[in-house]
Amino acid sequence: MNSSNNKFDCIIIGGGLIGLLSAYFIAKQGRRVAILEQASLGRESSWAGGGILSPLYPWRYPDAVTELVNWSRQHWGELITQLQHESDTDPQLINSGLLILDQEEQIEAIEWANRFNVALQTVSADQLKVLEPKLGPSPSQSLWMPDVGQVRNPRLISSLYQAALKVGVTVFENHPVNQFLIEQDQVIGVASQQNFYAPQVVVAAGAWSSELLKTIDYPLEVVPVRGQMIQFQTPPGLIKRITLYRGRYIIPRRDGRVLAGSTLEHAGFDKSTSQQAKDELAAAAIEISPALAEHEVVHHWAGLRPGSPEGVPTIGELKTIKGLYINSGHFRNGVAISLASCRLLSDLVTEASPIINPNDYAP
Ligand SMILES: Cc1cc2nc3c(=O)[nH]c(=O)nc-3n(C[C@H](O)[C@H](O)[C@H](O)COP(=O)(O)OP(=O)(O)OC[C@H]3O[C@@H](n4cnc5c(N)ncnc54)[C@H](O)[C@@H]3O)c2cc1C
Repeated sequence: MNSSNNKFDCIIIGGGLIGLLSAYFIAKQGRRVAILEQASLGRESSWAGGGILSPLYPWRYPDAVTELVNWSRQHWGELITQLQHESDTDPQLINSGLLILDQEEQIEAIEWANRFNVALQTVSADQLKVLEPKLGPSPSQSLWMPDVGQVRNPRLISSLYQAALKVGVTVFENHPVNQFLIEQDQVIGVASQQNFYAPQVVVAAGAWSSELLKTIDYPLEVVPVRGQMIQFQTPPGLIKRITLYRGRYIIPRRDGRVLAGSTLEHAGFDKSTSQQAKDELAAAAIEISPALAEHEVVHHWAGLRPGSPEGVPTIGELKTIKGLYINSGHFRNGVAISLASCRLLSDLVTEASPIINPNDYAP
């Protein structure tokens, strides 16, 4: 490798959604950006996720998460339109809305929605039947969030990859980073198969971020949390809305795929699936919509979420090492908050005025 191929303005460690989108935004500001990915781009949590653009019970999260979700929600349309121009893959943003059939926390939910100006309505059992006729439970009152969208993760990654290449991002797959290069409390690069140099380095290594930061004794509280999901194949239009009940949910795609998820398991870096989880997810999905019992489960997979305390990601520069940034710990909502989190990181790296107050996320 010649020297110009290993010197950049900014190096991003990790080619999941968070690394890719951060790289895309930073490169758009005219910086030379490289992504170093230990395996293949976008094949970990960002591939495995459901792509719901909202937390499942959003009122349960700290305001710091809501801020990121709401900023992202206002800008998804714009980003997807850009990606449709800059790539040949449509991430399939659909405004399918979220129905929540649980009844226990409706007062908290309504108060939260009023406070943050989020669209959330109650619907009666009769209205629910009209909205989504194939559901099983018909509680006297459900919650309906009409503005919740979804994307298809692998398509989002693919289109973002193409767009990132167009704005000059260089991608090195099969390049695990195992060490930071630091001189006098300033990061100067990273070590992989060979050294790569940049005055700014971003750790966006998802569930693996804390392992990497251990090499410099930085205690990032991010742990892998396994999530298993299954997929039914149904005729398109059988179910139209994302529906949540007792912690389990179904996500209907435009082409009739219906995803059902997900488990929350602390199993280290083990990504294997289990028959027990498959059966349990299928039973929960069929409880939500008995019509699914007539359709086959055609896929079953697992991914490792970057689990963080209360789901608040760490975004920003370390106080102790100049130029070393983190964008990690997006836990269950990494897609929903990706846009704001990566824009904020990009603003900090490029010294632009930050889109939101960065203090709540600072390392
Ligand atoms: C089953 C499931 C369902 C989900 N559903 C949703 C949902 O509906 N909505 C939502 O918003 N979120 C959802 N999520 C969460 C979301 O997918 C994650 O929060 C998000 O994808 C995290 O992105 P990331 O880029 O940080 O991590 P990842 O996608 O895991 O990417 C990290 C990358 O870093 C690479 N890497 C690690 N270490 C190194 C190293 N040393 N050197 C180089 N590269 C390295 C990895 O190989 C990986 O490619 C779900 C997750 C799962 C598992």
